[in-house]
Amino acid sequence: MNNKILDNITLILSDYDYSKAEHLYIHIPFCRYRCPYCSFYSTLYLNDNAKNQFVEALINEIKLKDFLLSDKLKTIYLGGGTPSMLSIIDLSKIFNEINKNHQLDENIEITIEANPEDITKELVKGWQDLGINRVSLGVENINEKHLKFLGRKHNTEQIINAIEIIKNIGINNLSLDFIIGLPDENIEDLQNNFQLISDYNIPHFSSYILTIEKKTRLSKLVNEHPEIMQNDNDTLTNIYQWYLYAKNHSYEHYEVSNFSLPNYQSKHNISYWTQKNYLGLGPSAHSYIHPVRMWNTASLRNYNKTLENNNIDLEYEILNEKNIFNEYIMTRLRLKDGIDVNELAKRFDKNVIQYFIKQSEKIPSEYLIKKNNKIYLTEEGWLIMDRILIDLFL
Ligand code: SF4
Repeated sequence: MNNKILDNITLILSDYDYSKAEHLYIHIPFCRYRCPYCSFYSTLYLNDNAKNQFVEALINEIKLKDFLLSDKLKTIYLGGGTPSMLSIIDLSKIFNEINKNHQLDENIEITIEANPEDITKELVKGWQDLGINRVSLGVENINEKHLKFLGRKHNTEQIINAIEIIKNIGINNLSLDFIIGLPDENIEDLQNNFQLISDYNIPHFSSYILTIEKKTRLSKLVNEHPEIMQNDNDTLTNIYQWYLYAKNHSYEHYEVSNFSLPNYQSKHNISYWTQKNYLGLGPSAHSYIHPVRMWNTASLRNYNKTLENNNIDLEYEILNEKNIFNEYIMTRLRLKDGIDVNELAKRFDKNVIQYFIKQSEKIPSEYLIKKNNKIYLTEEGWLIMDRILIDLFL
């Protein structure tokens, strides 16, 4: 290794009894277009040359950070950007590099995020042959007026076509992503989305409330025309419709924005919410190997350039006890299972726990419940989670 920062990280980690990451995230930084609301790092797909350079750089990054990755992997998640833009040849190169030094657990979950317009039989078959066994499909909304508002380029027919192809090929672990809180969204619009989930017996879905992220085209638009957004009361009503649909159809609301049938929770995302070590590769990707958090440059150009010389542009920080505690509280309370007080006692100082318990007592039971040594938020609590966390943080 000839990277000074990675050398430093290795030195720091050697002072801790650190465990290598069993969870791997790979960020594919290309999109065909930039959606007006999106703040994820990605760049427009210009030509194969840029993509080929990225794949080479990524393979070099796998080699450089190999020492942080466990011999046996439990989850791999290809996110982005738009991972479904990569060809099977590109993906094979990436998987070959991973497979050189790492085995895949027999129950491994390998997820790829996909846009409906990219889905073809050949592509999905190729994924399956590579071992990809979970697809997270960016449906966003079945109603064309909403797709248009979101600046998405796919249509209803492509969504249905994509779901049928994925299911027919035999990848049953399918998750659909939805965005809620859209202008003029009425009950009928919601029903169309619910019907899609029911028609295809989809085992997992996520519904994210549209947020206005800084420096996006949507934030500029909303600054000029705040009236275009759905008002908070209507958003709340619609959120409850999603909760009700999930409840009436036996979906477990296991995380703030995620719903699943039994055994279909996202293992990879649960690893983040339960403080497992994970390694992130690709531009802007974050990693956490306790107690070090590191993140790659959010510039494809820098990423490719440095990795061409077997170097990498990344930064890191060592989390202190306060950071670790706050992160623990924040991520655990996202989950339906919440915080196990016995586990908390094993991890943190007595005074910290006393403070936490005292603070949690201030929160009404409508929002936060204490039962059988567990502390967790209700669905109502999740809706005001940011405010609750202010009271609970150190
Ligand atoms: S929402 Fe998805 S497709 Fe749209 S710009 Fe963001 S990453 Fe790309």
